[in-house]
Amino acid sequence: MRYLPLFIAAVLTGLISLPARADFHVFACEPEWTALARTFMPDAHFTTATSYLQDPHYIEARPSLIAAMSRADIAVCTGASLEAGWLPALLQRAGNTDIQPGQPGLFFAADHAQLFAPHDHVDRSMGDVHPEGNPHVHLSPDQLPNIAKALAERLGAMRPDNSADIFARYIKWRVNWNFHSANWQERAKALQGRSLVIQHTGFGYLLRWLGIDATMDLEPKPGLPPSASHLNQLLADPRLEDAAAILIASHQNQKPAQWLSAQTRKPILVLPGTVTDDSKTDTLAELISEIINRLESAMPEVANGSL
Ligand SMILES: [Zn+2]
Repeated sequence: MRYLPLFIAAVLTGLISLPARADFHVFACEPEWTALARTFMPDAHFTTATSYLQDPHYIEARPSLIAAMSRADIAVCTGASLEAGWLPALLQRAGNTDIQPGQPGLFFAADHAQLFAPHDHVDRSMGDVHPEGNPHVHLSPDQLPNIAKALAERLGAMRPDNSADIFARYIKWRVNWNFHSANWQERAKALQGRSLVIQHTGFGYLLRWLGIDATMDLEPKPGLPPSASHLNQLLADPRLEDAAAILIASHQNQKPAQWLSAQTRKPILVLPGTVTDDSKTDTLAELISEIINRLESAMPEVANGSL
């Protein structure tokens, strides 16, 4: 211990250099953006504000998140009002000037996507809708490449010394995504034209891409909890008969789906709405593959078209 002051002095004067450490901090609002950014910068530090077991529309601005945000080099979020209920407060309390709106340190995936179902006029009576359109774009097979490219470019611009590595990893990601996408497209042929009852529009982009009808929603309006009167209306909907299953996300309350399932004997599919820690669903490509697996097993009769 008596050499400690000498050691400190040596470090301070640059005689001894400490091991290089990853010094890039990424704050991700949702786990899918951690998964994507980690592909490009595996050595960075990551903090993820939400998990697949949480509703990303509503979380608490916990002190640990404020601390993580205050030291972040970049915040990667969905945008399009998905985090409107908590991100502005978090940004303000963290007081990190690098990641304020308009700065390169705040990246919104939705800015690099084409959103569906925009609403011109929004008020609470319409539910918690997102005026820019459905923000849940992370499961869109044809829009992810654009988002991934923009994110890789942004990270590269912030870390020019690493930009060649980041770009190489993006190319590798893209090749892998194209490979998966061709496989999904092939499998979509058998799923096309089928229908599901959903709860919120979290899987909307993927279902639309697969050609699956998802217009029957347990929610009366996006973001409004299922009500008894709405569920009864749904029960009387003639389209319900053709629905193969009721699809809900892992973080959602299962009671409304269970009620409808009890009335109709339709199976309930519970799927993670985003990546998890499980190796079967820990990247967006793995997750989409797994969702398609589960849809296929819920629709075993897809090949001959009979119910
Ligand atoms: Zn939403």
